[in-house]
Amino acid sequence: MTLSVLSVASEAFPLIKTGGLADVVGALPAALAPHDIAVTTLIPGFPKVMRAIGDAPRVHHWPHIIGTDAWLRAARIGEHRLLVLDAPHLYAREGLPYVDSDGHDWHDNWRRFAVLARAGADLTSGAVPGFDFDLLHAHDWQAALAPAFLHYAPGPGPVARSIVTIHNIAFQGSFAAHHFADLGLPPRAWSIDGVEYYGQIGYLKAGLRTADAITTVSPTYAEEIHRPQYGMGLEGLIAQRAACVSGIVNGIDPAIWNPGADTALAAPFTVDTLDDRIANKRAVEALFGLEQDDRPIFTVISRLTWQKGMDVLVEVIDDLVAMGGRLVVLGSGDPALEIAFAAAALRHPGRVAARIGYDEPVSHLLQGGCDAILIPSRFEPCGLTQLYGLAYGCVPVVARTGGLADTIIDANEAALTTGVATGLQFDDVTPDTIVAALRRAMRLHAGQDRWRIIQVNGMNADYSWRQSGRHYAELYRSVLGYS
Ligand code: ADP
Repeated sequence: MTLSVLSVASEAFPLIKTGGLADVVGALPAALAPHDIAVTTLIPGFPKVMRAIGDAPRVHHWPHIIGTDAWLRAARIGEHRLLVLDAPHLYAREGLPYVDSDGHDWHDNWRRFAVLARAGADLTSGAVPGFDFDLLHAHDWQAALAPAFLHYAPGPGPVARSIVTIHNIAFQGSFAAHHFADLGLPPRAWSIDGVEYYGQIGYLKAGLRTADAITTVSPTYAEEIHRPQYGMGLEGLIAQRAACVSGIVNGIDPAIWNPGADTALAAPFTVDTLDDRIANKRAVEALFGLEQDDRPIFTVISRLTWQKGMDVLVEVIDDLVAMGGRLVVLGSGDPALEIAFAAAALRHPGRVAARIGYDEPVSHLLQGGCDAILIPSRFEPCGLTQLYGLAYGCVPVVARTGGLADTIIDANEAALTTGVATGLQFDDVTPDTIVAALRRAMRLHAGQDRWRIIQVNGMNADYSWRQSGRHYAELYRSVLGYS
């Protein structure tokens, strides 16, 4: 029997993306199609989304939804079925989806994402004629009120089941209590067992409390969020609901991330033509004005934030250069870190380059041309850049946490001897641990054969959506009581 799932999220690649969430939401429909599961994605009509869907037909109108009105448009981008909330007064703002040009959260984010969640709940609860879904899959805080709306839906009728996926528990969507009256939830929802969270409305908390199942994006992160260090205040609730918490590692989409057919590369290559990769290294050197040599180029492709350990990495750039390495940084985020990386590039012309900004094609070239990708995250729910690194022969050098711990096999002696190593891991994110990992990487790279084996192992590792799609399919069916 075909199951129909409404995936509710604030981002979906290629329409709108600020991070890994978009990649996952964009990939889920194709990953689940082989399992006879039809996924439709509901997203807000941000300007980029509206431009992509053109004059897609309006299929529903909410005259009053969380104190405002919104249209629903149905579109298809390739095989991806989309439902788009067309509400210009909420979403037609250029730039990033969540913050204004000064980097401040939009004042009405509580409403913008309550509308998204409410629409998702309406579409799955039978409140919108012509729409019928078996399951609602809400992603992150922006969609996490949807299970709460379903849970508190009036009437005795059966409503769809729901799942919340935590892509990052650090972002929780907490809003002032006085907005509760506008959400249209019954008074009993204002409780510790409902949406109330330390005197505020907690969107993610509400979803975690009311969804039928909770997933996060790696088994290790699913364990870590039981602890205060990672749970960010929600560890108690996670522990209470432990029986329905699981972790499914994200996959990568081979239609987008395939070094053998990647038009962003100077020279496509496969595991059998790895020697061709050098042309991409030369292209990176040329693009970023680096001196040409055969020692490793490290790259960083990341939000420049504390979570990603970027403040620590900045401290060791001089060491990296002193040991003969080069570094290319592509990223944006914390202004102080942006300045620090730009300053490091000025200090080390030809050895360090920083491009502050977001550039999808350049990120592909860096994965295909640099020797190693540095990911010193303090926590990392799943992480995608290490998976792209594996696929592109760009050896991941990662902190041992969350999905990084689950997806990289450290090149210790045992793993090298048995031929299973795919990258380098280190514990704790400190200047000393990063420098030690860099030294280890430099040594391994100097022994070309060993480095080549690590690259080949990574390229042969299967982190496609095949595995993850199967896990989601099993979870959906079990939540619906079919297994
Ligand atoms: P997170 O979602 O926490 O930011 P992930 O590693 O899960 O981290 O996903 C980050 C995604 O965003 C990857 O697809 C990565 O390639 C991409 N990305 C991050 N920064 C940039 C950038 N500056 N330019 C292009 N792509 C980027």
